[in-house]
Amino acid sequence: MIKVNARATFSQEGPFKLTTIERRNLQPHDVLIEIKYAGICHSDIHTARGEWGPVKYPLVPGHEIAGIVSQVGSEVTKYSVGDRVGVGCLVDSCGECSNCQKGEEQYCLGGSTATYGAIDRYGQYTQGGYSTHIVVTEDFVVRIPDAIPLDAAAPLLCAGITTYSPLRHWGAAPGKKVAVVGLGGLGHMAVKIAHAMGAEVTVLSQSLKKKEDGLQLGADHYYATSDPETFKQLAGSFDLIINTVSAQINIDAYLSLLALDGTLVNVGAPADPLAVNVFSLIGHRRSFAGSMIGGIRETQEMLDFCAEHNIASEIEVISADRIDEAWERVLASDVRYRFVIDISTMGNE
Ligand code: NAP
Ligand code: ZN
Repeated sequence: MIKVNARATFSQEGPFKLTTIERRNLQPHDVLIEIKYAGICHSDIHTARGEWGPVKYPLVPGHEIAGIVSQVGSEVTKYSVGDRVGVGCLVDSCGECSNCQKGEEQYCLGGSTATYGAIDRYGQYTQGGYSTHIVVTEDFVVRIPDAIPLDAAAPLLCAGITTYSPLRHWGAAPGKKVAVVGLGGLGHMAVKIAHAMGAEVTVLSQSLKKKEDGLQLGADHYYATSDPETFKQLAGSFDLIINTVSAQINIDAYLSLLALDGTLVNVGAPADPLAVNVFSLIGHRRSFAGSMIGGIRETQEMLDFCAEHNIASEIEVISADRIDEAWERVLASDVRYRFVIDISTMGNE
């Protein structure tokens, strides 16, 4: 076993403490990554606070990992020492089911292995990126293009792919009207990516506080959902709505903004069920859908797309002793637009 430093939460309430965890010894297809940066995703908070079900503590969250390969197993062919690489929300899957065969490992029928809080094929409890090193089988590692700085690349591994995948699947392109609900970590990536795909992009945020930012990120229009006029004005106008909100919202109100055959895709994952009145769907043959991250091939495609279109995340880099504070700010929607932990500060008091 390889002992490494990490920041873990020991209960639902926290706080984070410096600790050591064990990474497995390198298997023939494993890569050892020296983590440089780890993004803070709202899913880290939902998970650690037990909102999605019971978890085992201590827990080391983090599934937006960017780093450098520091060692490779005897049969690794895809990566070499020194490569700039990333790891997202998955570290393994069965590789054999029909979904894995299609490259949609996130929907593995046998259950893919989450980067933290899961039991892997070796029987070990997985621990995430708020740590100095991670061991991952090469098939679940992606390459970070040279054009993207490692700190701003980290959030692409979850926020980037989670928005890229549904935008591609539901055809964001020139001539399509796309709305993004919530301008946080996922939301700001959705705006950048949908704009780069050529769609006409509208942000639907709680207030107009971030309007200037939203337009700069690539939005064509920006509305406050606290203003009831917004829902009247935009009724029936969007082909696609990506809802990134981490809390419950009135889904019927947002469905009313879809045009004929439009789709509202929920990527936000609040703990409690969202109610839907079927008449909101029946009226204009609308769809209410969901989407979970993306497969490994598509994650690489997204990174290459971002490099080509000069896209990265807008980040606030923090030291490892400030994770609790950053989480509180995420919960208060006070994030512009992703916190990223500088792992070189892991030992900070
Ligand atoms: P985030 O940075 O906190 O962004 C969420 C945004 O939602 C906030 O910035 C805020 O935007 C808006 N919001 C928050 N509370 C709200 C409320 N009560 N009413 C209306 N709007 C509210 O979170 P994130 O990291 O982007 O994650 C968003 C959600 O996606 C989380 O639930 C997360 O678990 C989930 N997620 C899902 C997947 C997947 O595969 N499907 C992957 C990653 C994350 P405004 O200030 O602009 O209103
Ligand atoms: Zn995430």
